[in-house]
Amino acid sequence: MTRSTPPPAEITEQASALRDKLNDWSYRYYVLDDPAVPDVEYDRLFRELSKLEADYPALVSPDSPTQRVGDRPLDAFEEVRHEVPMLSLGNAFDDDDLTDFDRRVHERLNVSGDIDYIAEPKLDGLAVSLVYEQGELVRGATRGDGETGEDITSNIRTLRSVPLRLRGDVPALVEIRGEVVMTHQGFEALNARQREAGNKVFANPRNAAAGSLRQLDSRIAAERPLDFFAYSVARLEGRDWPRRHSDLLAWVRDWGIRVNREVRQCQGVSALLAFYHDILERRAALGYDIDGVVYKVDRLDWQEQLGFVSRAPRWAVAHKFPAQEEITVLRDVEFQVGRTGAITPVARLEPVQVGGVTVSNATLHNMDEIARLDLRIGDSVVIYRAGDVIPKVVSVLADRRPDDARPVQLPAACPVCGSDIFTPEGEVIARCTGGLICGAQQKEAIKHFASRRAMDIEGLGDKLVEALVDQGLVNHIADLYRLDAEQVARLERMGEKSAANLMAALEKSKQMPLARVLFALGIMQIGEETAKALARAFGDLNALREADPLLLLAVPDVGQKVAQSIAAFFHEQHNQDVIDALLAQGVQAQGEDRPSAEFVARLDLVHLLVSAKALQAPLDGIGQTSLEKLGAHFGTFAALRDADDEALLQSGLNAAGVEAVRRLQADRSWCARLAHAQAQCDALRDRAPASSSASLPLAGETLVLTGSLSRLTRDDAKALLEQLGAKVAGSVSKKTSRVFAGEAAGSKLKKAEELGIPVQDEDALLALLAEHGLTPDS
Ligand code: NAD
Repeated sequence: MTRSTPPPAEITEQASALRDKLNDWSYRYYVLDDPAVPDVEYDRLFRELSKLEADYPALVSPDSPTQRVGDRPLDAFEEVRHEVPMLSLGNAFDDDDLTDFDRRVHERLNVSGDIDYIAEPKLDGLAVSLVYEQGELVRGATRGDGETGEDITSNIRTLRSVPLRLRGDVPALVEIRGEVVMTHQGFEALNARQREAGNKVFANPRNAAAGSLRQLDSRIAAERPLDFFAYSVARLEGRDWPRRHSDLLAWVRDWGIRVNREVRQCQGVSALLAFYHDILERRAALGYDIDGVVYKVDRLDWQEQLGFVSRAPRWAVAHKFPAQEEITVLRDVEFQVGRTGAITPVARLEPVQVGGVTVSNATLHNMDEIARLDLRIGDSVVIYRAGDVIPKVVSVLADRRPDDARPVQLPAACPVCGSDIFTPEGEVIARCTGGLICGAQQKEAIKHFASRRAMDIEGLGDKLVEALVDQGLVNHIADLYRLDAEQVARLERMGEKSAANLMAALEKSKQMPLARVLFALGIMQIGEETAKALARAFGDLNALREADPLLLLAVPDVGQKVAQSIAAFFHEQHNQDVIDALLAQGVQAQGEDRPSAEFVARLDLVHLLVSAKALQAPLDGIGQTSLEKLGAHFGTFAALRDADDEALLQSGLNAAGVEAVRRLQADRSWCARLAHAQAQCDALRDRAPASSSASLPLAGETLVLTGSLSRLTRDDAKALLEQLGAKVAGSVSKKTSRVFAGEAAGSKLKKAEELGIPVQDEDALLALLAEHGLTPDS
């Protein structure tokens, strides 16, 4: 084969196909900021084409991507002609390529000895030119196709790292070039916002930066976290050029423009390699993406002597890092259960090298993410891995989808414990409901159960929980009460004394208020306050553990999400079994033993109907007022279910309302559910006290605790006062009836005095509690 050998037809065809593909990808990448494939894939084909063109120079055409820079600018912006073209860079992929580069520089300059280079991180963003006249920013432009770019001055002006005016001794004109990037942090935050708002999520920080900078509305660009780093000066007027590139960078810094702080002077290839490996190691910690480093001959006269070849300077080279994005195949999706029951889909991948390591798993976050990616098993996917961060699937190559690709399905049961999987209303993360028995969650569940604000089992710390579970002595919370002192004493770092103490603490924890037990069960969404409200409303555990969510919705502060979470928890038989086991071990959840009067008063037919509608019962087209009329008119669900058209019209409904009730009456499962809920309400009503908590001694009082108490904790004081019917508030207002102030009380005391609210001390508080038969247990 000689230089003049005409290429065989199939080679011509192959080159043309590569050119078309690369041009198409370039358009997606440069013009649409929406790459079709990762850079490595582009680079692989680019090298293939370069090789064909090197073998058969006749193949080289002006439209070949090997002869061009970037792509044409968007029409939407004013065009900018670059007086000095904005070029690309030659690449070095390994040490040999670099040695070749250095050798060529020596040969062309005809010099010996180590060359002075400037080594810079190769920022992975988008190239921008800034023109300053008399120190004033007059234009910002993109690279475009190198000759013609886009005028993005108004967007550039929103970047905080681009000064509108240079500082110090400024030249008549200077054109500064550099890279606009988005930091990892800014990128994650932007994508989180985009996802939340249902907007486009960016594939990587480069695309996010490019997409942001080419926004037509500069207000949007202004909101995007963009940074600028200068790396060269293209034009300079009204002042002589310095001798070196490094001098230029120093000037740029003096003018108040950021130059990357990693830039170093290096002599000879070995220093360049040391720089490369140092930065490569710190790549993830830099906070922004770099795809390699750039080495530039420092002497400007030498740069001039070396000149350019087609689309790149001969005096610089980009030494590429291993790619952070690769293509591979999704073999399967498995579901992992986190410590708190969150179900996370994990991608099992055909192993692939990404960022220098072999990757075979990647996170998929949640089912929404899978839907967003439109991911199927068997798909070719793009994997992104930066530093030590868990690799993730960023996109799917839809055009490579095989015919037998399968959709990803969330399992119905937890892969660890077999309990139901439940996705709370309005959330994206599915959860295992078997919190009390699930092996993935057991340690967290037990730690929470034992914690101070829950069952307060002294001596049962995190370490001991780990040991008990690891030794197989405890699988779930009820097992704690089956431990014997001997078993515990045999554990590492435990002795007879600590074992005995633990036994005593466990024994003591058997007498706990219902609210604490409820909180201790670790039901999703149930914090201490909700637990208290539930305990007060239901009065005992048995009524609560069977309650339909329709009833739960009548508890103050319990909305749909919370109600469904409680119902899902108690619906899981595994959890019920553990609770039975707890009770069988003598744990008593001490409540009032009867529901509260206020709660029961709320459980009327109106409430049932309104709640049923909120939970999607077929009551569309019936408004709140009509539901109230219905409730008042019929009183019980049985009466409503049997009502005919006439009776319904009599209650004040219109025709559409009657229709709606008819639909409800025809819905068997809702009728059964409402009848059952009605029966639960009736049973609670039968057991409720005649009068409300108005009979409690401190009912109607709003108290505030401040300062430090010496004989009981504030939490205990609060709990005791609440038992007496008081409301304990966190701040003083006109509604406060009295304030109990301990030692060193501050602003709340002052406020109370200002408002003239009675203030009493700790003794008075203890006296008040004692008066009602309550003493703080020390
Ligand atoms: P390049 O990105 O490899 O190198 C030139 C660019 O480097 C300059 O324009 C400048 O923006 C940047 N740069 C960063 N730091 C610099 C520094 N310190 N000094 C000088 N320049 C610095 O070349 P290119 O021609 O812009 O584009 C080729 C790259 O784009 C390849 O990596 C290719 O994979 C990617 N690409 C990808 C696709 C795709 O579909 N994924 C399509 C087209 C191009």
